[in-house]
Amino acid sequence: MRMPVAAASLLLLAMLSSHAATEPILPNSVVSNDLDFIKSSDPGVFACIEYEGRIRAEMPDRRRDELHADGVFSWSAKYTDGTSVGIWVHPDVGSQNAAHNLALQVAEPIGQLPTIMRSKLDHVVIHKGSLGGFSEDKGRFFVLYSENMAARLRNQYLEEIVFHRSVHATLDHPMAASAEWMRAQRADGDFVTDYASKRPDKEDLAESALFAWALLLHPGRLPGPVEERVRQIMPNRLAFFRKVFAEDRPTFYRVGPAPRCLISDVLIRPKRPLREMAVFGPVRGLTGRKARV
Ligand SMILES: [Zn+2]
Repeated sequence: MRMPVAAASLLLLAMLSSHAATEPILPNSVVSNDLDFIKSSDPGVFACIEYEGRIRAEMPDRRRDELHADGVFSWSAKYTDGTSVGIWVHPDVGSQNAAHNLALQVAEPIGQLPTIMRSKLDHVVIHKGSLGGFSEDKGRFFVLYSENMAARLRNQYLEEIVFHRSVHATLDHPMAASAEWMRAQRADGDFVTDYASKRPDKEDLAESALFAWALLLHPGRLPGPVEERVRQIMPNRLAFFRKVFAEDRPTFYRVGPAPRCLISDVLIRPKRPLREMAVFGPVRGLTGRKARV
């Protein structure tokens, strides 16, 4: 979020102290955006996006039954760990330039996901419109709407939305129904958000994952009382995510050769220089070698 830290902490302290110990911290982690889980300056492995032309593609849309669209702007987002993700933008957004900007907006936060997630993410669909998006767990993709993205970008919350949607698209199947996850859920008994508590089989993994990601990779980032409540509410699920995000594999690991990016594709990338983007190695001590791009 992005109200001043002191104001956010005061608000949260007030929320926490007025709630019974068993109540969730927030109504919904990705809508109640008063916590800053992921920063745009966090490590990532984004290298470039390569334009692949206009294609006919499946573009599921909440507003239409028609599944296919023609003339879809298509990019391949490439990452220095060897992963790549398709980004398909509906022609309704107007020009290739408009589509390109939208593709870039989502390509970089995808680069901040751990390799375990990004390597399973097949593609992202972007429509013009203001609706909230959705994810398709077995299809390994998620859908976003451009005006909703713009609003999220304004309040610096797009990273969190991308993370949440990506958990659905990459970890829900088969993790959300696994014995290990359900054992951890039962042992904890409580939920970090109302949303998770109302839909424990559908939303708890994604809601808990965002809190776990902030706590495990960026301890001290969330206000102290919030971190404390998370540790009280979900110690077993935290242990579950420690294995997924940090212990079984490093956050970023190579799954294929480093991408070849054309100079023209590299130059259009938005912010930091490439050498700062690629950090490989275990979560703690992000001093691993830098990848070539
Ligand atoms: Zn969700």
